[in-house]
Amino acid sequence: MIISEPSYYASFRCIASACPDSCCKDWDVLLDEETVKKYLQVPGELGDRLRSAIRTEDGESILCFDNGRCPFWRADGLCQVQSELGESMLCSTCREYPRIAHDYGDFKELELELSCPEAARIILSSPAAPRISRGVPGGEPPAYDRSAMALLQTSRTSILEFLQTPGIPVSQLLQTLLLYAYEIDESLNYPDFTPEDFQAENYAHTDFPDVPGTMQDIFAFFSRLEILTDEWKTRLAAGPVENTWDPRFPQLIRYFTERYWLQAVSDFDLASRAKFIVISCLMIRHMGGDLIRAAQLYSKEIENDSENMDALLDGAFSAPEFRDAILLRLLK
Ligand code: SF4
Repeated sequence: MIISEPSYYASFRCIASACPDSCCKDWDVLLDEETVKKYLQVPGELGDRLRSAIRTEDGESILCFDNGRCPFWRADGLCQVQSELGESMLCSTCREYPRIAHDYGDFKELELELSCPEAARIILSSPAAPRISRGVPGGEPPAYDRSAMALLQTSRTSILEFLQTPGIPVSQLLQTLLLYAYEIDESLNYPDFTPEDFQAENYAHTDFPDVPGTMQDIFAFFSRLEILTDEWKTRLAAGPVENTWDPRFPQLIRYFTERYWLQAVSDFDLASRAKFIVISCLMIRHMGGDLIRAAQLYSKEIENDSENMDALLDGAFSAPEFRDAILLRLLK
Protein backbone atom coordinates (compact mmCIF):
# COMPACT_ATOMS: atom_id res chain seq x y z
CA MET A 1 0.00 0.00 0.00
CA ILE A 2 1.16 3.52 -0.78
CA ILE A 3 0.68 6.24 1.84
CA SER A 4 1.06 9.85 0.78
CA GLU A 5 0.90 13.12 2.68
CA PRO A 6 1.38 16.81 1.97
CA SER A 7 4.96 18.02 2.48
CA TYR A 8 3.88 19.94 5.61
CA TYR A 9 1.95 17.06 7.24
CA ALA A 10 4.70 15.89 9.62
CA SER A 11 5.40 19.41 10.87
CA PHE A 12 2.11 19.67 12.78
CA ARG A 13 2.32 19.96 16.57
CA CYS A 14 -0.67 20.83 18.73
CA ILE A 15 -0.08 24.22 20.38
CA ALA A 16 -2.56 23.36 23.19
CA SER A 17 -2.75 26.28 25.64
CA ALA A 18 -1.57 28.72 22.92
CA CYS A 19 -4.40 27.70 20.58
CA PRO A 20 -6.66 30.66 19.71
CA ASP A 21 -9.62 28.27 19.34
CA SER A 22 -9.71 24.68 20.52
CA CYS A 23 -10.95 21.33 19.37
CA CYS A 24 -12.14 20.94 22.99
CA LYS A 25 -15.14 23.19 22.42
CA ASP A 26 -18.19 23.45 20.17
CA TRP A 27 -18.02 19.86 18.85
CA ASP A 28 -19.30 16.52 20.09
CA VAL A 29 -16.50 14.01 20.51
CA LEU A 30 -17.32 10.56 19.16
CA LEU A 31 -15.79 7.84 21.36
CA ASP A 32 -14.47 4.60 19.89
CA GLU A 33 -15.53 1.34 21.58
CA GLU A 34 -12.05 0.56 22.87
CA THR A 35 -11.86 3.93 24.65
CA VAL A 36 -15.32 3.50 26.21
CA LYS A 37 -14.18 0.15 27.62
CA LYS A 38 -11.06 1.80 29.08
CA TYR A 39 -13.05 4.69 30.59
CA LEU A 40 -15.38 2.22 32.30
CA GLN A 41 -12.34 0.87 34.18
CA VAL A 42 -10.79 4.16 35.32
CA PRO A 43 -10.93 4.34 39.15
CA GLY A 44 -11.64 7.30 41.39
CA GLU A 45 -13.20 10.68 40.86
CA LEU A 46 -11.85 11.12 37.32
CA GLY A 47 -13.30 7.73 36.36
CA ASP A 48 -16.69 8.73 37.77
CA ARG A 49 -16.62 11.98 35.80
CA LEU A 50 -15.62 10.18 32.61
CA ARG A 51 -18.45 7.70 32.94
CA SER A 52 -21.04 10.36 33.70
CA ALA A 53 -19.92 12.35 30.62
CA ILE A 54 -20.59 9.48 28.19
CA ARG A 55 -23.91 9.60 26.32
CA THR A 56 -25.22 7.03 23.84
CA GLU A 57 -26.93 8.35 20.74
CA ASP A 58 -28.03 6.28 17.72
CA GLY A 59 -25.81 3.42 18.91
CA GLU A 60 -22.75 5.68 19.21
CA SER A 61 -20.96 6.84 22.35
CA ILE A 62 -20.41 10.56 22.62
CA LEU A 63 -18.55 12.63 25.20
CA CYS A 64 -21.05 15.22 26.51
CA PHE A 65 -19.81 18.79 26.52
CA ASP A 66 -20.73 21.23 29.23
CA ASN A 67 -21.89 24.57 27.78
CA GLY A 68 -20.01 23.76 24.58
CA ARG A 69 -16.76 22.87 26.39
CA CYS A 70 -15.17 19.49 27.02
CA PRO A 71 -15.47 18.87 30.80
CA PHE A 72 -11.84 17.68 30.82
CA TRP A 73 -10.45 20.83 29.18
CA ARG A 74 -8.53 22.56 31.98
CA ALA A 75 -8.25 26.30 32.50
CA ASP A 76 -4.61 26.14 31.31
CA GLY A 77 -5.82 24.81 27.95
CA LEU A 78 -4.51 21.29 28.55
CA CYS A 79 -6.47 18.04 28.64
CA GLN A 80 -7.00 16.49 32.09
CA VAL A 81 -7.34 12.96 30.64
CA GLN A 82 -4.01 13.24 28.81
CA SER A 83 -2.24 14.89 31.76
CA GLU A 84 -3.42 12.43 34.41
CA LEU A 85 -3.89 9.18 32.48
CA GLY A 86 -1.50 9.59 29.54
CA GLU A 87 -1.92 10.02 25.79
CA SER A 88 -2.88 6.36 25.33
CA MET A 89 -6.14 7.08 27.20
CA LEU A 90 -7.29 9.66 24.65
CA CYS A 91 -10.02 8.48 22.28
CA SER A 92 -9.01 8.13 18.63
CA THR A 93 -10.84 11.38 17.72
CA CYS A 94 -8.74 13.43 20.15
CA ARG A 95 -5.54 11.51 19.46
CA GLU A 96 -5.72 11.91 15.69
CA TYR A 97 -7.30 15.33 15.16
CA PRO A 98 -6.47 17.28 13.01
CA ARG A 99 -4.97 14.40 11.06
CA ILE A 100 -7.35 12.61 8.69
CA ALA A 101 -6.90 9.76 6.23
CA HIS A 102 -8.70 8.94 2.99
CA ASP A 103 -8.31 5.21 2.52
CA TYR A 104 -8.86 3.96 -1.03
CA GLY A 105 -7.79 0.36 -0.32
CA ASP A 106 -4.49 0.12 -2.16
CA PHE A 107 -3.44 3.67 -1.25
CA LYS A 108 -4.13 6.09 1.56
CA GLU A 109 -3.91 9.88 1.57
CA LEU A 110 -3.17 11.71 4.82
CA GLU A 111 -4.20 15.34 5.31
CA LEU A 112 -4.39 17.98 8.02
CA GLU A 113 -7.78 19.54 8.73
CA LEU A 114 -8.08 23.25 8.06
CA SER A 115 -10.45 23.56 11.04
CA CYS A 116 -7.52 23.47 13.48
CA PRO A 117 -5.91 26.94 13.76
CA GLU A 118 -2.36 25.58 13.86
CA ALA A 119 -3.01 23.28 10.89
CA ALA A 120 -4.59 26.23 9.04
CA ARG A 121 -1.49 28.31 9.73
CA ILE A 122 0.74 25.54 8.38
CA ILE A 123 -1.43 24.91 5.31
CA LEU A 124 -1.53 28.60 4.40
CA SER A 125 2.16 29.24 4.99
CA SER A 126 3.73 26.16 3.40
CA PRO A 127 5.26 26.63 -0.03
CA ALA A 128 3.98 24.40 -2.81
CA ALA A 129 5.75 21.06 -2.88
CA PRO A 130 4.97 17.57 -4.18
CA ARG A 131 3.26 15.11 -1.83
CA ILE A 132 5.53 12.67 0.00
CA SER A 133 4.82 8.97 -0.63
CA ARG A 134 6.02 5.73 0.93
CA GLY A 135 5.15 2.08 0.52
CA VAL A 136 3.99 0.04 3.53
CA PRO A 137 2.79 -3.55 3.90
CA GLY A 138 -0.97 -4.13 3.90
CA GLY A 139 -3.89 -2.62 2.07
CA GLU A 140 -6.84 -4.15 0.27
CA PRO A 141 -7.90 -4.62 -3.32
CA PRO A 142 -9.49 -1.32 -4.33
CA ALA A 143 -13.24 -1.09 -4.77
CA TYR A 144 -13.02 2.00 -6.97
CA ASP A 145 -13.28 2.20 -10.76
CA ARG A 146 -9.65 1.99 -11.87
CA SER A 147 -9.90 4.00 -15.07
CA ALA A 148 -11.86 6.76 -13.29
CA MET A 149 -9.28 6.90 -10.51
CA ALA A 150 -6.42 7.02 -13.02
CA LEU A 151 -8.08 9.95 -14.79
CA LEU A 152 -8.69 11.77 -11.50
CA GLN A 153 -5.11 11.25 -10.36
CA THR A 154 -3.61 12.45 -13.63
CA SER A 155 -5.88 15.47 -13.81
CA ARG A 156 -5.26 16.37 -10.16
CA THR A 157 -1.52 16.31 -10.79
CA SER A 158 -2.01 18.66 -13.77
CA ILE A 159 -4.10 21.13 -11.84
CA LEU A 160 -1.80 21.03 -8.78
CA GLU A 161 1.19 21.79 -11.02
CA PHE A 162 -0.76 24.66 -12.57
CA LEU A 163 -1.59 26.04 -9.11
CA GLN A 164 2.14 26.40 -8.49
CA THR A 165 2.66 28.66 -11.51
CA PRO A 166 3.81 32.02 -10.15
CA GLY A 167 2.07 35.24 -11.04
CA ILE A 168 -1.34 33.91 -12.09
CA PRO A 169 -4.25 35.80 -10.47
CA VAL A 170 -6.29 33.77 -7.99
CA SER A 171 -9.44 34.40 -10.04
CA GLN A 172 -7.73 32.78 -13.04
CA LEU A 173 -6.55 29.81 -10.97
CA LEU A 174 -10.09 29.14 -9.79
CA GLN A 175 -11.69 29.67 -13.19
CA THR A 176 -9.21 27.25 -14.76
CA LEU A 177 -9.77 24.68 -12.02
CA LEU A 178 -13.54 24.84 -12.48
CA LEU A 179 -13.59 24.67 -16.28
CA TYR A 180 -10.96 21.92 -16.38
CA ALA A 181 -12.97 19.94 -13.80
CA TYR A 182 -16.01 20.13 -16.09
CA GLU A 183 -13.97 18.59 -18.89
CA ILE A 184 -12.73 15.75 -16.67
CA ASP A 185 -16.25 15.30 -15.29
CA GLU A 186 -17.55 14.80 -18.83
CA SER A 187 -14.93 12.17 -19.48
CA LEU A 188 -15.80 10.36 -16.23
CA ASN A 189 -19.44 10.20 -17.21
CA TYR A 190 -19.02 9.69 -20.97
CA PRO A 191 -15.95 7.46 -21.38
CA ASP A 192 -16.05 7.99 -25.18
CA PHE A 193 -15.10 11.61 -24.50
CA THR A 194 -11.34 11.96 -24.14
CA PRO A 195 -10.13 15.16 -22.50
CA GLU A 196 -7.29 17.07 -24.11
CA ASP A 197 -3.98 17.31 -22.28
CA PHE A 198 -4.15 20.17 -19.79
CA GLN A 199 -3.49 23.54 -21.45
CA ALA A 200 -4.27 26.52 -19.22
CA GLU A 201 -5.10 28.80 -22.17
CA ASN A 202 -8.09 26.54 -23.02
CA TYR A 203 -9.83 27.78 -19.88
CA ALA A 204 -8.99 31.48 -20.05
CA HIS A 205 -12.02 32.72 -22.01
CA THR A 206 -14.30 35.37 -20.53
CA ASP A 207 -17.45 35.12 -22.66
CA PHE A 208 -19.84 34.03 -19.90
CA PRO A 209 -23.52 35.07 -19.83
CA ASP A 210 -24.40 37.84 -17.40
CA VAL A 211 -26.58 35.97 -14.89
CA PRO A 212 -27.85 37.99 -11.90
CA GLY A 213 -26.64 36.83 -8.49
CA THR A 214 -24.61 38.25 -5.64
CA MET A 215 -22.27 37.30 -2.83
CA GLN A 216 -25.10 38.32 -0.49
CA ASP A 217 -27.24 35.52 -2.01
CA ILE A 218 -24.44 33.05 -1.26
CA PHE A 219 -24.15 34.29 2.33
CA ALA A 220 -27.93 33.81 2.64
CA PHE A 221 -27.54 30.19 1.43
CA PHE A 222 -24.94 29.55 4.14
CA SER A 223 -27.22 31.15 6.75
CA ARG A 224 -29.74 28.38 6.09
CA LEU A 225 -27.20 25.62 6.91
CA GLU A 226 -26.39 24.28 10.38
CA ILE A 227 -24.51 26.86 12.45
CA LEU A 228 -22.16 25.86 15.27
CA THR A 229 -20.68 29.05 16.67
CA ASP A 230 -21.96 32.55 17.45
CA GLU A 231 -19.02 34.03 15.56
CA TRP A 232 -20.04 32.32 12.33
CA LYS A 233 -23.64 33.41 12.83
CA THR A 234 -22.56 37.01 13.38
CA ARG A 235 -20.28 37.03 10.37
CA LEU A 236 -22.98 35.61 8.11
CA ALA A 237 -25.48 38.16 9.39
CA ALA A 238 -23.00 40.98 8.75
CA GLY A 239 -22.83 39.97 5.09
CA PRO A 240 -19.92 39.90 2.65
CA VAL A 241 -16.93 42.17 3.17
CA GLU A 242 -15.36 43.78 0.09
CA ASN A 243 -11.94 42.19 -0.16
CA THR A 244 -9.12 41.36 -2.54
CA TRP A 245 -7.53 37.94 -2.99
CA ASP A 246 -4.86 37.33 -0.35
CA PRO A 247 -1.61 35.98 -1.90
CA ARG A 248 -1.96 32.83 0.26
CA PHE A 249 -5.09 31.67 -1.60
CA PRO A 250 -3.13 29.34 -3.96
CA GLN A 251 -2.14 27.31 -0.88
CA LEU A 252 -5.79 27.15 0.16
CA ILE A 253 -6.89 26.01 -3.31
CA ARG A 254 -4.18 23.36 -3.22
CA TYR A 255 -5.48 22.11 0.14
CA PHE A 256 -9.07 21.80 -1.14
CA THR A 257 -7.91 20.18 -4.39
CA GLU A 258 -5.73 17.61 -2.64
CA ARG A 259 -8.57 16.78 -0.26
CA TYR A 260 -11.58 16.60 -2.57
CA TRP A 261 -10.56 15.96 -6.21
CA LEU A 262 -10.12 12.18 -5.92
CA GLN A 263 -13.33 11.78 -3.90
CA ALA A 264 -15.20 12.19 -7.18
CA VAL A 265 -14.38 8.52 -7.79
CA SER A 266 -17.33 7.71 -5.51
CA ASP A 267 -20.02 9.32 -7.70
CA PHE A 268 -18.20 10.73 -10.76
CA ASP A 269 -19.30 14.24 -9.76
CA LEU A 270 -16.09 16.24 -10.03
CA ALA A 271 -17.86 19.41 -11.19
CA SER A 272 -19.73 19.85 -7.89
CA ARG A 273 -16.52 19.37 -5.93
CA ALA A 274 -14.72 21.95 -8.05
CA LYS A 275 -17.65 24.33 -7.52
CA PHE A 276 -17.41 23.63 -3.79
CA ILE A 277 -13.74 24.72 -3.94
CA VAL A 278 -14.69 27.94 -5.76
CA ILE A 279 -17.58 28.67 -3.37
CA SER A 280 -15.34 27.99 -0.34
CA CYS A 281 -12.67 30.40 -1.57
CA LEU A 282 -15.27 33.09 -2.31
CA MET A 283 -16.77 32.70 1.18
CA ILE A 284 -13.39 32.81 2.92
CA ARG A 285 -12.36 35.87 0.90
CA HIS A 286 -15.56 37.76 1.69
CA MET A 287 -15.59 36.81 5.38
CA GLY A 288 -12.80 39.35 5.64
CA GLY A 289 -10.51 39.77 8.63
CA ASP A 290 -7.57 37.53 9.29
CA LEU A 291 -7.31 34.88 6.56
CA ILE A 292 -6.22 32.04 8.84
CA ARG A 293 -9.13 32.70 11.21
CA ALA A 294 -11.65 32.98 8.36
CA ALA A 295 -10.43 29.77 6.72
CA GLN A 296 -10.32 27.85 10.00
CA LEU A 297 -13.78 28.99 11.05
CA TYR A 298 -15.21 28.17 7.61
CA SER A 299 -13.73 24.69 7.79
CA LYS A 300 -14.99 24.11 11.34
CA GLU A 301 -18.53 25.10 10.32
CA ILE A 302 -18.64 23.43 6.91
CA GLU A 303 -16.01 20.75 6.34
CA ASN A 304 -16.45 19.23 9.79
CA ASP A 305 -20.22 18.98 9.50
CA SER A 306 -21.30 16.17 7.19
CA GLU A 307 -24.82 17.60 6.80
CA ASN A 308 -23.41 20.95 5.72
CA MET A 309 -21.03 19.26 3.30
CA ASP A 310 -23.90 17.29 1.76
CA ALA A 311 -25.99 20.46 1.48
CA LEU A 312 -23.11 22.31 -0.16
CA LEU A 313 -22.37 19.55 -2.67
CA ASP A 314 -26.09 19.27 -3.50
CA GLY A 315 -26.28 23.05 -3.75
CA ALA A 316 -23.22 23.21 -5.99
CA PHE A 317 -25.02 20.83 -8.32
CA SER A 318 -28.40 22.54 -8.43
CA ALA A 319 -28.86 25.74 -6.37
CA PRO A 320 -29.48 28.89 -8.45
CA GLU A 321 -27.08 30.87 -6.21
CA PHE A 322 -24.20 28.73 -7.49
CA ARG A 323 -24.71 28.89 -11.25
CA ASP A 324 -21.36 28.82 -13.01
CA ALA A 325 -21.74 32.23 -14.63
CA ILE A 326 -22.42 33.83 -11.23
CA LEU A 327 -19.42 32.19 -9.58
CA LEU A 328 -17.12 33.08 -12.46
CA ARG A 329 -18.23 36.73 -12.34
CA LEU A 330 -17.81 36.88 -8.55
CA LEU A 331 -14.24 35.63 -8.85
CA LYS A 332 -13.13 38.90 -10.45
S1 SF4 B 1 -7.50 22.94 17.52
FE1 SF4 B 1 -5.47 22.13 16.85
S2 SF4 B 1 -3.90 23.41 17.91
FE2 SF4 B 1 -5.92 23.79 18.89
S3 SF4 B 1 -5.96 22.39 20.66
FE3 SF4 B 1 -6.96 21.29 18.95
S4 SF4 B 1 -5.32 20.14 17.86
FE4 SF4 B 1 -4.33 21.65 19.24
